[in-house]
Amino acid sequence: MLALGVFAFEDGLLVALGQPGEPIGWRSWLWVLLDLSIPAQVIAALATLRQRDRLEAELVAAAHRDPLTGLPNRTGFTEAASAALAAVARVGRPVVGAMLDIDHFKAINDGWGHAAGDAVLREVATAMRGVLRPGDVLARVGGEEFALLLLGVDTEAAQHLLERLRAVAAMVPHPGAPERRVTLSAGLAPVQGLGLAALENGLRSADGALYAAKAAGRNRVMLAG
Ligand code: GH3
Ligand code: MG
Ligand code: MG
Repeated sequence: MLALGVFAFEDGLLVALGQPGEPIGWRSWLWVLLDLSIPAQVIAALATLRQRDRLEAELVAAAHRDPLTGLPNRTGFTEAASAALAAVARVGRPVVGAMLDIDHFKAINDGWGHAAGDAVLREVATAMRGVLRPGDVLARVGGEEFALLLLGVDTEAAQHLLERLRAVAAMVPHPGAPERRVTLSAGLAPVQGLGLAALENGLRSADGALYAAKAAGRNRVMLAG
């Protein structure tokens, strides 16, 4: 397209110059103007194509991200976790999966409104992100539910890290009385294998442990099995 524009521009110049001594009629001037406008049209078309590519990339990114917290959503988690597992496969490090869920979150919505609930979700997500390493994959996979993939740690170290996440979540201001705490429950399990099926199995076990943590009274971390 650029070559076409350059050619048209050159063509326009040749017409403008014409044959020496020959007068230039108004029709020729019209052609000159038309030819000279082609490079501008080519540049505008290229800019439009670039903008379309940018919008397309933004749409793809938006489809993988939760707009409230800025974390990956379920689709984004699967994609990022698969990439992380593929990277870990090369060095053979242990991987732990975890599921986390804010306790009695419905009561926050019911008591102080949906906007207050949204603020808690945002702040809990930011607080947890602040504790994790860049390679760890944290995602909001449901209303007040998060999935986490921890790379290069055993279940014991992962348990300590989840306790830290529970501690930072408790520092998020509760919309009710200041003495109230935002608490969360979590379940974790080793991811045994490096494919998507292993990830799903690990997270299913972690979800079972989360269920057990809820049943045992909430505000705690439990290891599967
Ligand atoms: P549990 O301790 O057993 O986890 O109870 P819970 O109240 O936290 O869980 P439940 O599943 O009963 O309620 C979750 C609530 O989260 C219900 C739903 O309306 C709310 N929710 C889901 N998505 C959002 C959101 O994006 N913003 C807000 N503010 N609330 C949400
Ligand atoms: Mg909950
Ligand atoms: Mg829930």
